[in-house]
Amino acid sequence: MRRMMVAGNWKMHGSLLQTSNILGVIRTNCDIITSAELVMLPPFVYLAEVQRLLTGSAISWGAQNMHEQLSGAYTGEISAAMLQEFGCRYVLVGHSERRSLFSETDALIAKKFNTAQQCGLRPILCLGENRAQHEQGQTKDVVLKQLSSVLDLVGIQAFVNAVIAYEPVWAIGTGMSATPAQAQQVHAWLREFLLKQDEAIAQAIRILYGGSVKPENAAALFSMPDIDGGLIGGASLDAKAFLDIAQCSNSYC
Ligand code: PEP
Repeated sequence: MRRMMVAGNWKMHGSLLQTSNILGVIRTNCDIITSAELVMLPPFVYLAEVQRLLTGSAISWGAQNMHEQLSGAYTGEISAAMLQEFGCRYVLVGHSERRSLFSETDALIAKKFNTAQQCGLRPILCLGENRAQHEQGQTKDVVLKQLSSVLDLVGIQAFVNAVIAYEPVWAIGTGMSATPAQAQQVHAWLREFLLKQDEAIAQAIRILYGGSVKPENAAALFSMPDIDGGLIGGASLDAKAFLDIAQCSNSYC
């Protein structure tokens, strides 16, 4: 039985004041979320405040990125150990904005996944095809290649505590979500692929959907058998919308 997860990726948004406002509302009202694990993914500089505000609550937090090396002369970068000092449980790896705007390759993402996992952080591996690939019917090939590049480096056992987020690039920040059936098909392909390696791990791993999830479409998406929650961008900056989305997971495990 997989526990649902609803994670909020704030991207490069927010302020100290917004951090305390958003988390104040979410922490006060999170009892209405009966089954999902809530995860907040703020910018690095707010992690100390997030840790202060959420310690002792049922809400987890993490970072949006990290460096693949353990330490060294990498000016401006953040290591896995640093994230752990601030109580991070999760770290996003391979978000499409990192892939497209910061030229992160499958090989680099696989290294980050490996480092995160070896340091005790739980990677949330983001995968997804762009609009052209979607229109040319290449979705399955693209996402399975992205997944394989990580599997080949780290092996299936490294997926025990990991999470996968399927995020079609054409749906991120566009207001145009994949339909529940479209998303379910991709989630099923990903799980089937993992099943060939290890049935128990494949059945246990959470596969989130991300891309314009809103309170209006979350229930239909979360009702799909292989959709285990959501990675929420824009709507996670609105505490009420985020809680409304998370509440849609209540009917599922
Ligand atoms: C994201 O950035 O991971 C995302 C899914 O964004 P949005 O919900 O705004 O589409």
